[in-house]
Amino acid sequence: MKLPTIDEAIGNTPLVRLRHLDAGLAWPVWVKCEHLNPGGSVKDRLALAIVNTAEQEGRIRPGDTLIEATAGNTGMGLALVGLARGYRVVCVLPEKMSQDKRDALAMLGAEVIMAPNAPPDSPENFRQVAARLAQERGWFLTEQFSHPANPRIHYQTTGPEIWRQSGGEVRTFVAGAGTGGTISGAGRYLKEQCPGLQVVLADPLGSQLGSYALTGEYRGDGPYLVEGIGASKAPENLEIQIIDAVETVSDEESFQVTRDLIRKEGLWVGGSSGTAVAAALRRAALPETGGPVVALVTDSWDRYFSRPWLKE
Ligand code: PMP
Repeated sequence: MKLPTIDEAIGNTPLVRLRHLDAGLAWPVWVKCEHLNPGGSVKDRLALAIVNTAEQEGRIRPGDTLIEATAGNTGMGLALVGLARGYRVVCVLPEKMSQDKRDALAMLGAEVIMAPNAPPDSPENFRQVAARLAQERGWFLTEQFSHPANPRIHYQTTGPEIWRQSGGEVRTFVAGAGTGGTISGAGRYLKEQCPGLQVVLADPLGSQLGSYALTGEYRGDGPYLVEGIGASKAPENLEIQIIDAVETVSDEESFQVTRDLIRKEGLWVGGSSGTAVAAALRRAALPETGGPVVALVTDSWDRYFSRPWLKE
């Protein structure tokens, strides 16, 4: 396959069967390998979708500046799409974000602006800084937590890919939620194909999204180390009616399963992938699950080289 630019390699990631971790369970676990996107995460899809949508709406054109309030995978995805399509990218990072991520974004040519760790309603909060700079400078604010292109791209691509690649056999879909775009969009598509299919939210212990999805109330607030998923408040892009069940996973279990994925399965993924697969293994152990379980693995291990849990 010969592609004109690297952004066209986004999506169509493989679905891979586990070989070891699900041995002896009632049902197999298959993983959707989003870490194999060219920018190393599921967020490449969203970055491309937001750029395409904004271009179609005539809101941006090559040469313009995109600004995003995040340190993580969306910044990397936007940097990749920006390089391929001719956009400058500015990322506003809260101070607590790792030096690894700052360095990676800077190496990719993104401008990195640091904001102090401040509560959401403070003018110094990183999302507020990004919104203000966008307004003052006429830069395009990508808004992944509320942009409808986020769940839509997963409804249009991730969900159909999983359905097709599983030969229509998938009966449970497991994913974490950061913005909620992946689980809402892909989950909705899969349920439309198979109404009995279960969508399971893999939520870190300490996040309040699981309790909110099940009861409408926020409970269980606490600290956790897994990055990119969980929250103390549901983002606009999380459609809680799509979620049938929640599996709560501790940091310890997430990181153990991540190390197993890396060392036993050859899947070089990050911590939130361990959360999703830990939840998937629990579901695959139950006979009543009724069919194969698909877990979405989100990003690549290279984002976590400096984290002690990876080296244990
Ligand atoms: N895992 C990681 C490492 C992430 O960065 C994200 C995105 N914040 C997710 C999972 C969750 O994806 P989504 O935003 O689509 O819910």
